[in-house]
Order: sequence, then structure tokens, then C-alpha cells
Amino acid sequence: MATSPLQLLDGTAGAGAPGSSNGDWKMHAACRGRLELFFARKAERPQARIRRQEKAKRLCDGCPVLDECRTAARNNREYGYWAGESEEDRHLLGFRVTAPIGVRARAADREEKPQDRSA
Ligand code: SF4
Repeated sequence: MATSPLQLLDGTAGAGAPGSSNGDWKMHAACRGRLELFFARKAERPQARIRRQEKAKRLCDGCPVLDECRTAARNNREYGYWAGESEEDRHLLGFRVTAPIGVRARAADREEKPQDRSA
């Protein structure tokens, strides 16, 4: 079962969760206390998402634990913006979330049902 990003970043992840077995990488996260930048609000508009993710990326670019975070997000199939990657970015790299929603669900659906090009 996936650990929530909040659990990872606030240090309450259980034993065996990504980030819990390799020490304290999450304690050095540049985003501690800034989680609102990393997860979409309800009904977030596309332009607001772009602006939010640009701000998040600036934090990630200077984060000392970017590599550890990226590995955990990919391996744990996380939602949200992690280590400079959105869910879509990870999806395109083959790290698909287990229950895609919204844009991710439509993208996954298109990949599984190739377009009928006979018309
Ligand atoms: S790389 Fe980004 S999301 Fe990951 S811990 Fe650092 S600031 Fe947070």
C-alpha cells in the first residue's frame, strides 16, 4: 500500500515505506512546510497547476535530497509533484499510479485503446 507523501515528508511513514529504510532523507526536504505546492487543490485550473508546479520545481531544483525523493516517488507510484516530476512525467517514464484519475486516466485509456485510424 502506498504511503502518503505527507507521511513521507513529515516523518510519520511506517516501517518499510519508501524513505523510512534509508535514513533521514525526508528530514532534509526543501519542501517541508510547503506541501501546498506539491498537490493539486480541488478543481485546480490548468494555468494554476502550471504556476504551482513551477514554484515547486524551483524548490526541488535546490533540494539536497532530490535523487532520493525521485526514486521514492517513482518506486512508490506516488501522486503529486515530486522531485521535479509530475504524475504525468512519471507515467510517461513507466511509473504509473495504481488508480489514475483525470488526465492520467484518459492518457492511460488512450494507450490501452489505440485510436481507430480506419475512418
Ligand atoms: S525534491 Fe522536491 S518534492 Fe522532493 S523532497 Fe525535495 S523539495 Fe520536496
